[in-house]
Parts: sequence; C-alpha cells; structure tokens
Amino acid sequence: MSGTKPDLSKLDWMTTRIDAALGWARKFSLFQYPFVTACCGMEYMATACSHYDVDRFGAGFPRFSPRQADVLFVVGTVSHKIAPMLKRVYDQMVEPKWVVAFGVCTCTGGFYDNYATVMGIDTIIPVDVYIPGCPPRPENVLDGLIKLQEKIQSGVKATLPLGPSARPAELQTPHRIEAHTS
Ligand code: SF4
Repeated sequence: MSGTKPDLSKLDWMTTRIDAALGWARKFSLFQYPFVTACCGMEYMATACSHYDVDRFGAGFPRFSPRQADVLFVVGTVSHKIAPMLKRVYDQMVEPKWVVAFGVCTCTGGFYDNYATVMGIDTIIPVDVYIPGCPPRPENVLDGLIKLQEKIQSGVKATLPLGPSARPAELQTPHRIEAHTS
C-alpha cells in the first residue's frame, strides 16, 4: 500500500489545545470536599460567605462525598488518630484531584509539638497549595485559590506525599522537621 504519512505534528497541536481547554474548564469547576477538623473551620466558613464570593472561582459548591469532589480542602489540625481517615478520603477521590492545606496546623503542625499531631499533611498525602496562617484570612484563601487555578490550567499537580521538602521556604522549620521525621 502506498500513500503519504499523516502529519503527526498537527495532532500534537490539537491535543495541546484540547488540554488547554480542559485546564481552563477545570479551573472554574472546583468541587471541593471540606475535611474540617478544628478552629480554621470558622475562617473557612467566613470565606465561603457572600462577602468573598468564591463562586467567582467556580468553587462555591462543596460536595460531601469524596467521589464527587476534585479538590480536598484540609482545614485544621490533623491528629495521628484521624490521619488514616484523611488518607482514605483522598484515596476515594478520582483523578484528576488536588489538595489544599488550609491553616498552618495543616501545613506544618503549627504551634503543636507533641506526639498526637501530624507535622504537616504532606507527610501523608500530596499537597498542591499551602495556605498558612492561624487562621488564614479569607484574602489568603482567595490567593491560594488563584494559585490552585494556575496549577490546574498549566497541568501541574502534586502526586506524591513529598513531606517538608516540598513546602514553600517560609514553611520550612528545620529543627522541628528533624524532630518529627526520624
Ligand atoms: S492554624 Fe490556628 S486556627 Fe487553624 S486549626 Fe491551627 S490553631 Fe486553629
């Protein structure tokens, strides 16, 4: 059989455009699962109120089944006792999925330094966006949402629980990391 070979470079162009369109659609269609454990929950609720209008980011509609959610919002202190449940919720979410660590307790363990507290959820599940603060102000949360949208649009996604080394510089606390990762 004779014939000309198909020009695959055109196909690359097309799949790139489809990926970009999907990224654009996904970033405005965030179905969040709130895993709320502690006092940060109050600020989470404040952010969800009409003053801050998270609907602008397509993130105003929480789902209470992990199977229907694509963004896991972990809000508040996570103890070792509840950690297996967090992992289970994460595992039940389908791909593509993202994780937001809300509040410094969730990001690093915060001011807790004891046997009961997880020193950052990134030791258990991958984290895409860190929103520190005790608690973070709604403006910080909106900033985190925008960062998440940028990651979704560009297809950047954390896939492994990378631990403290994955955190932004301001969340690196070497003495405590040493104490709790050995
Ligand atoms: S970061 Fe502060 S407000 Fe949030 S759960 Fe920890 S102690 Fe509570």
